[in-house]
Amino acid sequence: MSSISLIQGRHTDNWQAELANAVTTTEELLRIVKLERLAPTVTAGGNFRLLVPHCYVDKMQPGDANDPLLLQVLPSLAEKSPAGTTDPVGDLHAMTAPGLLHKYHGRVLLVTTGACAVHCRYCFRRHFPYTTANPRKGEWGEAIDYIRSHEDIAEVILSGGDPLVLDNSVLQRLLALLEDIPHLQWLRIHSRLPVVLPSRIDKSLQHMLQRSRLRTTLVIHANHANEITEIEIAALQQLGMAGITLLNQSVLLRGINDSVAALAALSKRLHDAGVLPYYLHMLDPVQGAMHFEVPSSRATALIDALRLQLPGFLVPRLVREQAGEGSKTAIFTI
Ligand code: SF4
Repeated sequence: MSSISLIQGRHTDNWQAELANAVTTTEELLRIVKLERLAPTVTAGGNFRLLVPHCYVDKMQPGDANDPLLLQVLPSLAEKSPAGTTDPVGDLHAMTAPGLLHKYHGRVLLVTTGACAVHCRYCFRRHFPYTTANPRKGEWGEAIDYIRSHEDIAEVILSGGDPLVLDNSVLQRLLALLEDIPHLQWLRIHSRLPVVLPSRIDKSLQHMLQRSRLRTTLVIHANHANEITEIEIAALQQLGMAGITLLNQSVLLRGINDSVAALAALSKRLHDAGVLPYYLHMLDPVQGAMHFEVPSSRATALIDALRLQLPGFLVPRLVREQAGEGSKTAIFTI
């Protein structure tokens, strides 16, 4: 039995079984968190249905309609607003091979899967046409050929969906293809699983990344300190000890983390887990999520106030992704 399963009896080493057993209906979620009274204010989520593992629900406060974890996953009637767009960061224009996005110099992003362990209501890819835009399962040929023929590409970013939803054998096969490209130096993995389904951080994954010749960075996507308990800290520390660079990027979300107290608590908890707060993203203007938007003026005021409370290395960079730009756009404060 691993340290993870010892910490809390409910959590298992079998992340796939936990995922298969995830909560998929608003009725079940509201019943577990004792908020059945909210039923008239929620929807089933349409094509982007509710999905959340029990171990994430366990971190919510029963009876609290404003719980910051609940608000990230509970589909609300506000999602019916037509505001926003379906491709807010220009993904489809940047696609150079099935599933491969080349936006920035020296690095490409591989949409490895459309699957996730959780459906975040603010997701900027909630309308992404995964079934038509991605390669068929495990067929990376065109993407690999493109990377191989562009010698200026030094880094591959595995994204999704969530790349850690792929099992270790599939990841190993993909990793071997990438390691075989001589000019690649770095691998970056963007995943919410370390804070949504921490049992996914198993020994086999750890060893695979540790053995790779590619220098590996894992960017976790934590938005609130309550997402990071002793269980997640233990899992992340294992990766840190294996030599994986650990960074976090959050989305600034109205009603969830748009306060100095929430952002400071998140940075401190990340530090406990050996993770550096890297980016704080402004919400991408995606249709169905605009109710989470925080105005730029408020965002810059929050960062200014955070800077007065924390050492610089715990203050994330406030950025916005703009379609067609050659990098993330930093939002400066005075
Ligand atoms: S895990 Fe990432 S890709 Fe998946 S729904 Fe959440 S934000 Fe979107």
